[in-house]
Amino acid sequence: MIKTRRFDIRKRIALVAHDNKKKDLIEWAEFNKVVLAKHELIATGTTGKLMEDQLDRPVKKLLSGPLGGDQQIGAMIASGEIDILIFFWDPMEAQPHDSDVKALLRIAIAWNCIMACDRATADFVLTSPLMQTEYSANIPDYSTYLKRKID
Ligand code: PGA
Repeated sequence: MIKTRRFDIRKRIALVAHDNKKKDLIEWAEFNKVVLAKHELIATGTTGKLMEDQLDRPVKKLLSGPLGGDQQIGAMIASGEIDILIFFWDPMEAQPHDSDVKALLRIAIAWNCIMACDRATADFVLTSPLMQTEYSANIPDYSTYLKRKID
């Protein structure tokens, strides 16, 4: 049987931006302020503070990304607490927490989480008609993996 994860009309959107991409995220958030106002925002520490200042509204702030925030978001995705990940990662600079970045990208795919990693894709996601409706996303079936035999 296919399992699904139900998205409410009010989506839970996680925001993460690397330092060189924070300006991009701020501009994107300002551009999409009206739509974002309808949804719940969660973010890594520094990104969250910037978003609160820019949007003048509360954002649930986790730890700073390199201090565990990326992993907290990954855990929330795995436990079905996040619907959409907006992750502006920097393709031009290695991060001290590159392993966490890779882990977050991987876990988002593993759980079929909607993910946008640049402004254009994020604009398309936010303007999707599905943003204004409930939605059921398939949860990948890992039952064979979970039932595998370990000799
Ligand atoms: P920050 O973390 O929002 O605390 O700067 C972002 C990141 O993962 O680098």
